[in-house]
Amino acid sequence: MLKDEDRIFKNLYNDLGWNIDSAENRGDWLKTKDIILKGKDWIIKEIKDSELRGRGGAGFPTGLKLSFAPKEVSARPHYLVINADESEPGTCKDRDILRFEPQKLIEGCLITSYAISAHACYIYIRGEFFREGQRLQEAIDQAYKKNFLGKDACNTGWNLDIHIHYGAGAYICGEETALLESLEGKKGLPRLKPPFPAIIGLYGCPTIVNNVETISVVPTILKRGAKWFKSLGKPKNTGTKIFCISGDVNNPCNVEEEMGVSLKYLIEKHAGGVVGGWNNLQAVIPGGSSMPLLPKSICETITMDFDSLIKVKSGLGTAGVVVINKDQDIIRCIARIAKFYKHESCGQCTPCREGSGWMWRMLERMADGEATYKEIDLLYDVTKQIEGHTICAFGEGSAWPVQGLLLHFRDEIRKRSHAEPLIKKRSNIPYLIDQHLLENDSA
Ligand code: SF4
Repeated sequence: MLKDEDRIFKNLYNDLGWNIDSAENRGDWLKTKDIILKGKDWIIKEIKDSELRGRGGAGFPTGLKLSFAPKEVSARPHYLVINADESEPGTCKDRDILRFEPQKLIEGCLITSYAISAHACYIYIRGEFFREGQRLQEAIDQAYKKNFLGKDACNTGWNLDIHIHYGAGAYICGEETALLESLEGKKGLPRLKPPFPAIIGLYGCPTIVNNVETISVVPTILKRGAKWFKSLGKPKNTGTKIFCISGDVNNPCNVEEEMGVSLKYLIEKHAGGVVGGWNNLQAVIPGGSSMPLLPKSICETITMDFDSLIKVKSGLGTAGVVVINKDQDIIRCIARIAKFYKHESCGQCTPCREGSGWMWRMLERMADGEATYKEIDLLYDVTKQIEGHTICAFGEGSAWPVQGLLLHFRDEIRKRSHAEPLIKKRSNIPYLIDQHLLENDSA
């Protein structure tokens, strides 16, 4: 269990106050100037040494990402962009950072912007987070008043301005290149990569895009040292993480814990256990809706870190833990997720645009008991036609939940399927159409 002194987000439940004075009492903006004066190379090396991995879902090493920004600034300015478009179903951690720990993010923005030589930082926030955006703006204003931002920020000689930009509620704008398009005022369509944003990003300039939680932990790592951060968690899966636990649990919550904590402990200790007891557990989606689910047998022993979850063919993703108990129809749950992805596909790639609809319709047939055995393999084939054949990772995000269902609940689907297609009885057809067909038949 994470000790209180190792907690990074001490105000996750707003017990201590969100404003800048309370934040300073908790240690925010302490030694910020000293850190910046140590230089860009020191900051990036320390983040590399801490083995911090991005908290937005992909788990890419943060220090390495920062080092991709060109060393020299040419005629094209550098930008830092914060991805606050938190839209992954089952995930609500960034929201609480924006509401209750905004100074951690703002301080992280200053240090990171300096490290990548950016004088402008944009925070792209999802449109539905209107109140969170207002709170963040207030927090930014407070930081300006104290001269932590703006000209000669924190008396370091570095200038930084932070701007908030609201999205309009499209899930795909959480994909970094779609986010940049949207920020430029265009439709949120993912770009082909390469070139990567670190070289050609916002307005064609070098841009580093990072998640809210990732940047918010940067100041604490630099103040307490990479060694301290690495002492928490497991090798290559270091530090702490905010887990969002929802679904069929008695006490849905956000909680900061050590990386590598056991899933069972998280659910039992922090979320009040599964509704109906542990034996009533059916499955858990461990990392937001785009990650494959895990059956109860794996949930007994699995630990919550990037590498352990990959080994069982799932992923930590955003650490949005969705608990599904035996009262739920598991096929219908995944069909609902498939419908979400079908709706959110931007439509640029044929496998994603067409395949997401195929998967949804087939899953609906399976949930209704109308599918044939052959369709089970066909559904798997459709997921494989999508995976790895699209511009962005949305393709995988839509295919993986379905693959998880097929891997662990194939028998359940088979039980509801048939050898031959069902011929619908006339009585299933709505009355008026039925009458119409009968009249045509008799003609
Ligand atoms: Fe758009 Fe889907 Fe292609 Fe991503 S994978 S670019 S969401 S169509």
